[in-house]
Amino acid sequence: MRFLSSFLLLMIALPTQGRLNVVATTPDLAAIAREVGGSAVNVISLARPTEDPHFVEPKPSLIVKLRDADVLIEGGAELEIGWLPALVDRAGNRKISPGGTGHIKANDGVRMLEVPTELDRSQGDIHAAGNPHYLADPQNACIVARHIEKTLCALEPQSASQFRANTDQFVHDLEAKLAFWRQTLAPFKGQTVVGYHNSWPYFAERFGLRIDLFLEPKPGLPATPTHLAEIIGQMKQRRARVIIVDRYLDRRTAEAVASRTGAKVIEVTHFPGGIKDTEKGYVALMDYLVNALAKAFAR
Ligand SMILES: [Zn+2]
Repeated sequence: MRFLSSFLLLMIALPTQGRLNVVATTPDLAAIAREVGGSAVNVISLARPTEDPHFVEPKPSLIVKLRDADVLIEGGAELEIGWLPALVDRAGNRKISPGGTGHIKANDGVRMLEVPTELDRSQGDIHAAGNPHYLADPQNACIVARHIEKTLCALEPQSASQFRANTDQFVHDLEAKLAFWRQTLAPFKGQTVVGYHNSWPYFAERFGLRIDLFLEPKPGLPATPTHLAEIIGQMKQRRARVIIVDRYLDRRTAEAVASRTGAKVIEVTHFPGGIKDTEKGYVALMDYLVNALAKAFAR
């Protein structure tokens, strides 16, 4: 009996909750949350790394994940506007709804690019918050890590020193790596890289590249022969030699353009796990991108 009661006391003394359930909309946000939370949190991503983050299938299983979440990290710049709001609504979880204690809008404090000065509806997709693909700049990954740290510390103060140490380490590693990545790409400053979709302006700015020609005529629209003829003309003029294509986009069109311009197509991703050798996390992803580009330029 005595043994039983001390056993019960022990049960009460132990934390009743398990690890914090962190749900990120995309795998890049999830990877940063894993760096910050370490073993004290459980992190999942709603979008798969090989999926187009603009068009995630709103499966019922995602609603279940949101219902069980303590924290939701969303980009905050309308990338997920086509699928996330309805899922959050149906999950009915106050903690992770906008204004809730576990809701993180990751782009707070990020200097957004391509914010329209006026909303001109003739330009196709309107992103009032600017271009949402801001995590392609490692400096922005540091800003996001600090937001996640703040929320996790507030929700689980007993692990705060661990979250702080994890984040300091991540930011420190990224800053050291960033200097190395910039050095690697420095010889190719000013070169034009052709994209399929306009999702690399932050990467371009950070590393001094020009990524301003796109195979799709407007965001979300398929390439047309007239538009491609124009792009091919500009590529020849600017001696563009590299085309980058995300996994989930149309590589065949890129190959066709490459065969007419002598350019090389390389597969890219915004997401750890989107391509082999990027599974390990955000640093592995940037390593892959920088090295793949440097190799393509130097050939
Ligand atoms: Zn986009």
